[in-house]
Amino acid sequence: MNIPILMYHSVSDSDDYRELPSACRPIGYRTGVEVFEDHLSILKRDGWTTISLEELISRQEIPEKSVVITFDDGYADNHHTVLPRLQGYGFSAIFFISVSYLGKPGMMGVEEVNELLRSGMEIGSHGMGHELLSGRDESELDQELKESKRRLSEQFSIATDFFSLPRGYLPPPLPRLARNAGYRGLCTSSPGFNTERTDPFALRRFPVRSNWGREELEAILAGKGKLYKRLLLFENIRAFLRRRYRYKHLFPNYNKIKPPRH
Ligand SMILES: [Zn+2]
Repeated sequence: MNIPILMYHSVSDSDDYRELPSACRPIGYRTGVEVFEDHLSILKRDGWTTISLEELISRQEIPEKSVVITFDDGYADNHHTVLPRLQGYGFSAIFFISVSYLGKPGMMGVEEVNELLRSGMEIGSHGMGHELLSGRDESELDQELKESKRRLSEQFSIATDFFSLPRGYLPPPLPRLARNAGYRGLCTSSPGFNTERTDPFALRRFPVRSNWGREELEAILAGKGKLYKRLLLFENIRAFLRRRYRYKHLFPNYNKIKPPRH
């Protein structure tokens, strides 16, 4: 078992991010519509099957070429651009929602998320206000995990089993707290394939970046070659910096951006 999880954000040809809430602008993570279609056609052409995170962690019999597709943040284009294309290929995905941004400009609202669910897609938690989780004490982390799970579960009558890290930084107590809060797994932004030995609370994902085309996806899926190694090195450096500097030195004002109040 060697399963890649792809981490997309926004799929759009616009380079205007101003409409979106300032704390979740997908700069560097927006995939063009044609590139996204290319990606889906490559997955189909090469015989990949989309599976759920639950199927991945349950270690049940799954097709050899299995992939998990994820979307972070909850952009409106996930509904109007991504959903019909996934359906066209018979693929499924999980969409991680930042609860405080539901229904905000440029983001999905309750109705859009309900349609994803009706279409067989899954929903996970991306926390409340898309704030950096570093430097926050255990009770705050606990609150972030539990409150976002409760809100999504009540609003959409779902279990909300999976959490994805806002900004990718993994505070050491988070896996334990997430498990205690009733989650079944945690998606990080550390690159790599997932195997039988991968901890469900440290699932690896390949971030799909704005500059990716066909070749980058093909290299990742192949899991070898020069381009794969370069992409992996780049992501590993980013992951190292996240661990080392916890982004605080890079973005000292990050947590001063306040999410909207409800
Ligand atoms: Zn995010």
